[in-house]
Parts: sequence; C-alpha cells; structure tokens
Amino acid sequence: MADSYDLIVIGAGPGGYVAAIRGAQLGMKVAIVEREHMAGICSNWGCIPTKALLRTAEIYGHFGHAASYGLKATAFDFDLPAIVKRSRDIAGQMNNGVQFLMKKNKVDIIWGEAALTKPGEIVVTKTKKPPMQPQWPGPKNPLGEGTYKAKNIIIATGARPRVLPGIEPDGDRIWTYFEAMKPATMPKSLVVMGSGAIGIEFASFYRAMGAEVTVIELLPQILPVEDAEIAAHARKRFEKRGIRILTDAKVNKVEKSATGVKAFVELKDGKTETISGDYLISAVGVVCNTEGLGLEKLGVKLNRGAIEIDAIGRTNVPGVWAIGDVAGPPMLAHKAEHEAVVTVEAIAGMKVHGLDKLKVPGCTYCEPQIASVGLTEAKAKDAGREIKVGHFPFIGNGKAIALGEPDGLVKTIFDAKTGELLGAHMVGAEVTELIQGFVVAMNLETTEEELIHTIFPHPTLSETMKESVLDAYGRALNI
Ligand code: FAD
Repeated sequence: MADSYDLIVIGAGPGGYVAAIRGAQLGMKVAIVEREHMAGICSNWGCIPTKALLRTAEIYGHFGHAASYGLKATAFDFDLPAIVKRSRDIAGQMNNGVQFLMKKNKVDIIWGEAALTKPGEIVVTKTKKPPMQPQWPGPKNPLGEGTYKAKNIIIATGARPRVLPGIEPDGDRIWTYFEAMKPATMPKSLVVMGSGAIGIEFASFYRAMGAEVTVIELLPQILPVEDAEIAAHARKRFEKRGIRILTDAKVNKVEKSATGVKAFVELKDGKTETISGDYLISAVGVVCNTEGLGLEKLGVKLNRGAIEIDAIGRTNVPGVWAIGDVAGPPMLAHKAEHEAVVTVEAIAGMKVHGLDKLKVPGCTYCEPQIASVGLTEAKAKDAGREIKVGHFPFIGNGKAIALGEPDGLVKTIFDAKTGELLGAHMVGAEVTELIQGFVVAMNLETTEEELIHTIFPHPTLSETMKESVLDAYGRALNI
C-alpha cells in the first residue's frame, strides 16, 4: 500500500517548500519530494548566493572611493576563494534552514525524482542527472524510492538555464549561472550574453572585481522588462563603470580555445564584431522543468513550455496544481512563494485572491539597483490609459547626497482620471528595499492623494518616492 498524503509537493524551492509549510499549517498531511537540493535554485544557485557575491562587490567598491568619505584605504585586495566560500556557505545555511523548517512543520521529505503516474499518485525514483552536482549531502533520514499517493499534487519543479544551439555551456569556457557563481579564478575579461536580471547582476559583480565586461543584448534595450527611461539611466551608469554594452546585437557563433572565447556578434547596422573574453556567461533566460514528470500521460496542458494554470494554480487536470517558475513568468522567488500560499489555501477550500502578475515587483541587485512594480510608461500608453508621470532624481534628496549616492531616479505613473497608481520604477541606491512601499500602495489601490498625505521620514531615500508622486501633479518641492 503506497504512503498516502493530503498534499504532495514536487520540488523544494521557494514555491515548493512554502506550499508544504502552508499545507502543514492548515492541518494537511504533507510530503515534499526533492531530487537535488532543499531550498531550490533560489537559495542554492540563485537569489541568495548572488546577493552574497554582490555584497562583496559593493563593499569592495566602497574601498575604491574611500577617499571621498575622508577615509584612507590605500592597500586593499580580494581573496576569491574566500568570496566564493562565503557565498556557498550562505547557500548551505539556507539549505539547512529549509530542512529545519520541514522538520518543524512535520513535512515528510522524499529524496529522489518524482513523476506522476496518474492523478493522485507519483512514483519516486533515484535522481537521474541534476543540472549541477549537489554540493551538500541530502537531508537526514528522508523517505526514498517508491509510490506515494495524495489527494492533491503541486508541481513546483522550477526551471534551468536556456541553452542556445551552438553556444552550449561546457562548464569550462562557456558558463551558466552555476559556473559563474563559483569561479576558480577571477576573469580578466568576460562576455555576458543577455541583459536580463541574471546577466546584469553577474556583469555588475565581475566588473566591480576588475574584469573587463561586455554585455551583448539582442533587444534594443538592456533589462528589457523595465521602463525604457529607467533602463537608459541604468545603462549610462553601467557604461560609466566601464561595462561595455551592445544592444540590437546578436551572438551568431562562439569559438572556444584553451585560453578563452571569441563571440562573433552581428550588430544593428549589419556590421560584425568579434569580442574576446576569458569566459562567456550565457544568460539568455530559463526553461521550465516539465520533462520526465509524466505530464503528457496525464494530459496536463503546457503553454509556451510552462504548465498552464489559472490564477489559483489549477492545471486542466483535477488534483494537479502548479506554482513557481514551472508555471511561467515572472520567474521570481517571491512570485513562487505567493503562488504557493494562494494555491494551498485554494486546495484547503479557503476564499483566495488569485495572483495579480501586475503587482509582482521585480528587482535587479546590480550597482545601481533597479526595482519596479506595475505598468511601464509604454505599457500604460499601449493599454490606452491617460497618464500622469512623475520623476524625481536622487540629487534632490539630502540622504542620497549624505550617502554619496546622488545618482538615481524614481518614476511614478498614475491614471490621470482616477489618480490610481499604475506603476513605479526606480534606479539607484537601495531601491530594491524601497520598492515595497509602492507595492503596498498598489495592492491597496492607493491614489496620488493618499500618497501625498502620507508622511515619509526625513532624511531617507524614501522621500524621493513621495517627491516623484508630487512631481506627477506639478508639486515637487526639492527640485
Ligand atoms: P526552484 O527554486 O527552481 O526549485 C525547484 C526544485 O524542484 C529544485 O530544487 C529541483 O531540484 C526540484 N525538482 C525539479 N524536478 C524535480 C523532480 N522531478 N522531482 C523532484 N524534485 C524536482 N528571483 C528573485 O525573486 N530574486 C532574485 O534576486 C533572484 N535572483 C536569481 C539569480 C539567479 C542567478 C537565478 C538563476 C535565479 C534568480 N531568481 C531570483 C529566480 C529564482 O531563483 C526562481 O524564480 C525561484 O527559485 C523559483 O522557485 P521555484 O520553487 O519555482 O523553483
């Protein structure tokens, strides 16, 4: 007789483990299946270890302009193995933390690779080939191979790097985020293919540590999902830092040698350029982990490679649900976590609000940081909205000047008729921490009037947010 649960979650990333905890909180008997690492890509190879690297880069950058703060730091250097070790140790700590949370919530861990055999049943076999060799031993005393039954199954199997034909990562000269996360030597020069959040964060890290970095982007704009004005501001800052950026540029071919790579790039004007580097990071997006799950057999529908779900995580097959990266964009950990809670509460029969993708914030933790929520100016116009747009530069903010961070911009977009906040976009110091103010505002369907009546503490960077709102209504004070 197979072990039987109320809920089985496949995949222990931020989507899966949060779903398991919420299920346990609601009194369900829950099991989670994981084939490689507790806490998923986010904690092991994504959000957290990159932020550890970027923190090192930030502090190292401060040493570089210590004199502007009246400090003397004439001799400073870095120790690459120690930088990587710090990042990997933090990832390991997160991994352990999730194991602890499973134990605390009495969630059974099943170690291995899961596939659905029929609605309500999975079979778990030994892990075949994970994308990266697991760095840590699995959890203590997990359940193993076998058949398991559950009233409801949530698929939270995440995503992996997209591979372009002919530019396959080889773990040596052509890297994905896995190799870029733990370099053995600091590259002198680096080519980054793709300027989404992952490509830009690595470009920012390696440039800060002294590498010559070239970013190649197929589209006309870097950070393609961001507001054009914010992306243009960020581009100027990156270029000022010495990052070379080519947009409207296509890598046609990459040649490898024992010492480096050559990227053959086609430019907008039809000309070609060969760009050399010690390594190339391929950061051209991710693809959903849908293979080997038995989805075809069950007839689970896919849409553009992602499992098709409704706003509460339901697939077209009763009892089978999906959340997180495997259920499509935006591929973000907080979106996966939020979907997890919504879906489990829906399974429990609670009244839930479906996920509103427009209210999922996006953050890029490079130098300068970028953060946004809601509609860009172009999208608001495309949607036929009559809008009011406000801007406020960091140079008008006392705290930004005191911090030595006077270069940044906040942009807010309102519906001209109703005053509804439609979008907020920011570039500059700490904006990834600030954006949450606008996320709450949008979630509460706030108008300009409520924001104008809100008191922002002084001196803080957050005052730039209020000034941007004031500017949209012709009332900015400090500019
Ligand atoms: P995952 O975290 O991918 O977890 C899925 C899990 O399922 C994995 O552990 C996998 O081993 C397991 N699995 C897969 N198939 C099976 C199977 N058949 N059986 C058992 N287990 C299986 N997002 C942010 O919000 N902020 C950031 O700053 C950020 N930075 C990032 C930086 C990088 C370099 C990368 C790569 C990603 C980053 N992301 C960031 C994205 C974020 O990591 C993902 O959106 C998030 O991890 C998705 O969570 P998930 O639970 O859907 O999937």
